[in-house]
Amino acid sequence: MAPRIAIVGAGFGGLCLAIRLRRAGIGSFTVFEKAAGLGGTWRDNTYPGAGCDIPSHLYSYSFERYGSWTRRYPEQSEILAYLEHCADKYDVRRNIRFNTEVVRASFDGARWHLGTAGGDSETFDAVVMAVGQLNRPRLPDIPGMSGFRGTSFHSARWNHDHDLTGRRVAVIGSGSSAAQLIPRVAERAGHLTVFQRTPNWVIPKPDAAFGPAARLALRLVPGLQRAYRGWLFRYVENTLYPALAGGWSAAVLERRARAHLRAQVADPELRAKLTPGYPPGCKRVVIDSAFYPALTRPDVDVVTERIVRIVPGGVETTGGTHEADTIVYATGFRTTEFLAPIEVTGRDGRALAGQWNVGAHAYLGISVPHFPNLFLLYGPNTNLGHNSIVFMIECQVRHIMACLRALPRHGPLEVRPEAMAAWTRQLDRAMVRMVWVNGCQSWYKTPEGRVTNNWPGPAALYRRLTARPPLPAYRRA
Ligand code: NAP
Repeated sequence: MAPRIAIVGAGFGGLCLAIRLRRAGIGSFTVFEKAAGLGGTWRDNTYPGAGCDIPSHLYSYSFERYGSWTRRYPEQSEILAYLEHCADKYDVRRNIRFNTEVVRASFDGARWHLGTAGGDSETFDAVVMAVGQLNRPRLPDIPGMSGFRGTSFHSARWNHDHDLTGRRVAVIGSGSSAAQLIPRVAERAGHLTVFQRTPNWVIPKPDAAFGPAARLALRLVPGLQRAYRGWLFRYVENTLYPALAGGWSAAVLERRARAHLRAQVADPELRAKLTPGYPPGCKRVVIDSAFYPALTRPDVDVVTERIVRIVPGGVETTGGTHEADTIVYATGFRTTEFLAPIEVTGRDGRALAGQWNVGAHAYLGISVPHFPNLFLLYGPNTNLGHNSIVFMIECQVRHIMACLRALPRHGPLEVRPEAMAAWTRQLDRAMVRMVWVNGCQSWYKTPEGRVTNNWPGPAALYRRLTARPPLPAYRRA
């Protein structure tokens, strides 16, 4: 009998597995989605300017080439439309249970029991968590936030009913989300104050709309999309990855970022504020051509003094009070708390939160000792600073599919402790040369400094590791 499979989350990861299952003729799966729509982060992040800085033809499934991309770099609405298209084309929507939040998953020695926020419980043979790394907004812990008189919200929970026209707007944060929304907000606001705690390295985004001829060719010429995608993949692997691994292009990346700053910001005082004091890539490099020009506008200020508190009328820093009608918290996500707040209990009553209290870790980022038949998509150490996460997800789906196919013969599969230990050694050895380890704090690591989010190798190596037959690394639970 086909195993009953639960997938938690209907974003890029959950949909990818659902489509692969459907294409393999396996229909015995349910996708639990806490929201009313699919798309995950691309459903949630609707702030003005939201988009992706990985090219459209690489930030998509290899099996679903798409003729409708209008730009080199996709905007949020296009990515969401792509995912909706995929869900319809591969007929997986009927397997998705919307507005159903999974709050609990526990293994009884043979099966998994899933509990929902609505109080329902259901039993499955295997569970695949596909909740992403950037799904829980992190509001800062600044005194006085609740006493703010104006309107405030997080970048991932944009308040579209709130008109910014003519208002004094404060944006707290200067990461990738802030860099995308600041130029759009600056166009509307009466005045914009950007509160930057740490500057980021910024490189240009060579975005452009595809012309009619390019679109037609990409749609109609056999093999062209595939070749273009392959070229994009090799380009980022061979130029950006070495920059993060202490290789030949680290100096090139820094020169490029410095030249971009010089070209776009003439004022030496502002340039000094925007120059990071750590190597490029330690924090995610911002890829954007409109961010710096927005910061040079006469109606935009960049404030670098430390925020002391939020007061009813604005933001107080060590340098004084900045009045604001609206505060946008572009302060990122709770990235190192993988799977939280879902309570996951494995074999012999083992709590996942306890096992991960030193930082989340999983074999290939997919399987966790003591948690048989639990699989993760975009789990620990599978994020990239240089290439497409969709590629990583497809690698994981291939591995998980091979495990799921083996279940009827083998029973519950648990990763062997030796396989887990070898994986951890391999990760640790590769990690020491990566730029993320020293010199900055970032969402890639725990407050204690362990990099739990990123994969330290080339994406192509991850593909090779996940393409190996999985069973030797597992035992029957
Ligand atoms: P983020 O990179 O974590 O940036 C959060 C920002 O808020 C940082 O500038 C941080 O400063 C600041 N901040 C946090 N707490 C603060 C506090 N208490 N006081 C002052 N400042 C505070 O989050 P994000 O911009 O949402 O981006 C997260 C990730 O999402 C990106 O790195 C990227 O991987 C992904 N993303 C991708 C795209 C894309 O184009 N592909 C677009 C948006 C997001 P510090 O640096 O000092 O901590």
